Amino acid sequence: RSAVRLTQVTRTYGRGPSAVVALDQVSTGITAGTFTAVMGPSGSGKSTFLHCAAGLDQPTSGVVQLGGQNLGDLGERQLTEFRRTRIGFVFQAFNLLPSLTVEQNITLPLRLAGTRAEKGALQGIATSVGLAGLLDRRPAELSGGQQQRVAIARALITRPEVIFADEPTGALDPDTAEEILALLRQAVTDLHQTVVMVTHDPAAAQRTDRVLFLAAGRVADSVDAPSVARIK
Ligand code: ADP
Ligand code: ADP
Repeated sequence: RSAVRLTQVTRTYGRGPSAVVALDQVSTGITAGTFTAVMGPSGSGKSTFLHCAAGLDQPTSGVVQLGGQNLGDLGERQLTEFRRTRIGFVFQAFNLLPSLTVEQNITLPLRLAGTRAEKGALQGIATSVGLAGLLDRRPAELSGGQQQRVAIARALITRPEVIFADEPTGALDPDTAEEILALLRQAVTDLHQTVVMVTHDPAAAQRTDRVLFLAAGRVADSVDAPSVARIK
């Protein structure tokens, strides 16, 4: 079963002779319960792919389905609601709110969605990502790796079907990056979530189940169970 399916997705920026085709008729599916990396040179369309797949950006043409829902059928408010409740996001720059505590940052998506954490859910997630003792801190009092753990906990708190991560290890040292990748893997293995991660890092891609290589807005190659030899 595909958690995410793109069918003939094209995204162009601008019009006329100077138009840029960021995604060019991309069709691909991402199997539910897998960890996928999206790689490719700068400008190959990775960010646009992630943004279109996650409903943060609308394709110029083509269809994006997430959990069977055609995102193009949703109005703007419905799409916002859909993103808040069914998708989790993790960014390179963590994107935490500095004035909020760790606990408040983690539970923010629930407040935005107008719901509350199930009893024990916050503690369970905080423990699983190694933040149990840090819930009263503020982001500035945490290391980069700890801040990314908060971002992952925040992405997990609504139990989304799919987590989209845009270079989640890009700002971290290699050991800390390994820990963050292990957490994303844990979300796939233990929580049966689907993770889609843009990365430049071959070591990170090697930890996934499948690598999609973009080139000039197209899926140029895909590799299952990647080995070091095939990722450059
Ligand atoms: P990547 O993430 O692989 O670097 P992007 O998806 O950011 O690739 O960009 C793909 C292409 O689309 C590039 O040529 C880029 O310059 C262009 N592009 C991306 N976003 C915009 C935008 N908002 N306006 C105009 N061109 C854009
Ligand atoms: P990355 O590839 O690391 O994601 P980029 O520099 O390609 O970073 O893009 C950063 C942001 O700027 C993205 O949101 C992208 O959509 C936007 N962007 C990229 N290229 C252009 C462009 N030519 N014009 C306007 N915005 C762009």
